[in-house]
Amino acid sequence: MKSIFVFIISILILELHSSFAQESYDVNILKANMEFLASDALMGRESGTFYEELSAQFIASELKKYGVKAFGDEGSYFQSFEVLKNSMSINSTIKLMAGDGIVSTTLEPIKDFVGEIVNLNEDILASPLEMVFCGYGITDEVSGYDDYMGLDLKGKIAVVTFGIPSEKYHDNLTGVNLGRFRSPALKVQVAATAGAEAVFFVPDELLEQMWGMLAQMTTEDKFTLAGYPPEDSFFPLPALGLKMERGNEFFLEEEITFEKIKSLSGEGQKLDKFLMRKKIILDFDMVKTRGFCKNVVGLIEGLNKDEVITIGAHYDHIGKVDSEIFNGADDNASGTVAILEAARNLVSGEQLKRNVAVIFYGAEEKGLLGSRFFAGEWRDKENLIVNINIDMCGRGKVDTITVRGPLETSGELFEIVKSIDNESSMDFDLKKGLTDGMGSSDHASFAAVGIPVIDLCDDMESDLHMPTDDYDKIDYDKIGKTSTVVEKIVRKISELDHKLSRETE
Ligand SMILES: [Zn+2]
Repeated sequence: MKSIFVFIISILILELHSSFAQESYDVNILKANMEFLASDALMGRESGTFYEELSAQFIASELKKYGVKAFGDEGSYFQSFEVLKNSMSINSTIKLMAGDGIVSTTLEPIKDFVGEIVNLNEDILASPLEMVFCGYGITDEVSGYDDYMGLDLKGKIAVVTFGIPSEKYHDNLTGVNLGRFRSPALKVQVAATAGAEAVFFVPDELLEQMWGMLAQMTTEDKFTLAGYPPEDSFFPLPALGLKMERGNEFFLEEEITFEKIKSLSGEGQKLDKFLMRKKIILDFDMVKTRGFCKNVVGLIEGLNKDEVITIGAHYDHIGKVDSEIFNGADDNASGTVAILEAARNLVSGEQLKRNVAVIFYGAEEKGLLGSRFFAGEWRDKENLIVNINIDMCGRGKVDTITVRGPLETSGELFEIVKSIDNESSMDFDLKKGLTDGMGSSDHASFAAVGIPVIDLCDDMESDLHMPTDDYDKIDYDKIGKTSTVVEKIVRKISELDHKLSRETE
């Protein structure tokens, strides 16, 4: 009896397992969509270009084919948004003014400095500004460590080093996870909160290594959302970096030499803050234009239309640099294709209880602009119950995907994700933190307005933002499996007999 019982149970388990493992993605569709979106014909899908338009039209035509309804402006599949484009002309300079009021040094873009000149307050241009050396430029509420403590940065420039302090030299840092403070983007945000007008990074080996890429960015168009406050932006302030050869001059006659700063910060030792004797004049010649970008949006109608689940992926990439096309196969044609496939299956399956908005964000690479616009324009944030985002899902191990977001935004969502992890053929690598420290993606725009989020990402290790991110390296089963995961999460949330909780405990 026993053996027969075990046998029957085994069959049941096998059947259950195969029904859990059942996946309805179609590799041929995934492949065809990928090979179009990541082809040279689309020139890297840069926002604000004709190729963004071509990509958007293609995505809309797929949605229509699957039976997803138009959910954009005036009955269309498109939600367009205005952007301000700002670029710094190559004729711009930075002048260093010695204590005696005489300009001692003139720095030229690309040769001497690089920068991400975005959200610049133009009132500060052409006049001498004070500079404050703020050490590592880190503020940590948990440990109380604060490089900005007691400083008034209004109208001033913060000068900070790369790297992080070491627990060995800072008593109050014990037990703190310091690694995340390495992020230059975080340092810029912290400086903005402290009231600074711009951040100047002290020369560093890392900066030297990335000089070529940063030089490229220095004079290119920077996009911001028209009508939205700059302080909410992903890049709230101009960030500047100085060439190694200019380090000694920059700190000449200051309280500490460049060499000393380098050696102390290299070991994570204490760095004293000080007001610099020198002043700085940003003589930037800014070129301004306006333009439009677009999100592609569709709706899958549920029985109850009061609440909306959002699923999405950014479809833009970074275009062409010099003569090379950056096709962005994994980043993020893969997510785009996976969300399309999830939408196709959600429409063809049993009708959902709740509405699902399917969104393909434009201008993510320009600073999460499309998702910020979608979330910002949505009137009732209470009925947007969740955002599920995919940013890269076609590389790395086929059975593993990194998941971020639920831990910080909804305890109930975290439980749902764990249950799907158990029944899915994919293993979730559940991470703390909304971002990976160096960058972020569109889910952050929803989390910023209080909406629970899930971000699925393959954490691509090589080829990120390189011309080598091509579709010959893509694993279509991984994209398919990720789309199935999205479908499962949507179905589970759609079935809830209550609104998804936003409590994090
Ligand atoms: Zn991306």
